[in-house]
Amino acid sequence: MEPAVDLAIVGGGVIGCSVAYHATRRGGRVALVEAERIGSGASGAAAGMLNAQAEAHEPGPFLDLLLSSRRLHGPLGEELYEATGLDPEYVWAGTLRVATDEAFREIFAAEYSWQREQGLAARWLDADEIRELEPNLSSESVAALYLPEDGQVNPPRLVQALALGATLGGARVMEATSAEGLVVKGRRVTGVRTARGEIPAGAVVLAGGASATLLSNQLGVHLPVHPVKGEILAVNARPAPVRVNIWNSECYVVPKRDGRVVIGATEEPGVYDRRPTLGGVAHLSRAAVNLVPELSRAPFASAWGGLRPGTPDGEPILGPVEGWEGLFLATGHYRNGVLLSAITGESIAALALGETSPFDVSPFSQNRFAESVTR
Ligand SMILES: Cc1cc2nc3c(=O)[nH]c(=O)nc-3n(C[C@H](O)[C@H](O)[C@H](O)COP(=O)(O)OP(=O)(O)OC[C@H]3O[C@@H](n4cnc5c(N)ncnc54)[C@H](O)[C@@H]3O)c2cc1C
Repeated sequence: MEPAVDLAIVGGGVIGCSVAYHATRRGGRVALVEAERIGSGASGAAAGMLNAQAEAHEPGPFLDLLLSSRRLHGPLGEELYEATGLDPEYVWAGTLRVATDEAFREIFAAEYSWQREQGLAARWLDADEIRELEPNLSSESVAALYLPEDGQVNPPRLVQALALGATLGGARVMEATSAEGLVVKGRRVTGVRTARGEIPAGAVVLAGGASATLLSNQLGVHLPVHPVKGEILAVNARPAPVRVNIWNSECYVVPKRDGRVVIGATEEPGVYDRRPTLGGVAHLSRAAVNLVPELSRAPFASAWGGLRPGTPDGEPILGPVEGWEGLFLATGHYRNGVLLSAITGESIAALALGETSPFDVSPFSQNRFAESVTR
């Protein structure tokens, strides 16, 4: 059968939608299938921090990936706004990693030192300087690492903008359409099977987040991706009691442009139930009020949960699948999928369309887990 599209993408989270958007920008014919609604998975649950530096722990390919993706978000946001009229609500005010005890002071001091050696923007703040930057932080904050170039975005709006941008570029975005299997000819993947019929495709991208492994299993490709449940909540606070993303060992506090302050997040590996619990809300509320006492007066808005696609090393799985033509992976983004959506979309769209990726994603190949992958 002739391919109906160049690219069929399974999963309408921030990753699948970014691949779809970037593929249409490259002139590709694209179909995207989403089992539920666009952004209904982890992407719609995320806090949206763009913590390229706050999430990195050493120089290397992962730091390069995080920094490169952060760089792409500025132009991407402007491009999406122009193309769709949707504003993803970026804020570039930085992230403050706050230490409330000696152990964390040492950890953050070590991060500060290697980041400065790499020439990255970072400032070390003592207690007085913390209060100068963020007067509402509790006096328990003894020292902090300020990373002024990290930022944040509104994840549901980013996903909607990417999906609309892809649609306006000619992509067929199908919600309530589950991919039930892959169509295979010899060692080539030639399409996706859904309840609405087959979609013959030149290449298939698996971007199903924590569920991506269900389809790859069909080919004997066992990806080490597992769900890591995160609970998160929001309060209304305008003006917000803090200006930048604040993150200590217990929680983070993210002031959004829409007047909410988002407080996250718990981490529970292996849990599939996405619903928030009273215990999760109690833990996050206590931690946030300890960090920013002013928040105790903020009216509660909502609480929700999501399943991060976790991997054994916390880094994503990107690129072609050895032994299979026409199959590409874009999953396992764990805590950083919103941040990494820009570079993942750009790189995987290029590779899956048979072009050269502007960024070398080979360090993130599934081969690094060779012992847990059978073909
Ligand atoms: C509480 C929380 C806070 C977070 N905070 C941040 C943050 O601050 N910054 C950051 O960068 N990241 C953050 N993350 C992580 C980020 O949300 C994820 O890494 C990212 O959303 C993963 O995107 P995805 O598109 O791979 O997965 P998802 O958003 O889960 O999308 C996968 C989609 O695929 C669909 N799907 C699966 N199987 C099929 C199938 N067979 N057929 C059709 N569709 C299918 C699902 O329905 C789903 O919509 C957070 C996550 C959580 C839970």
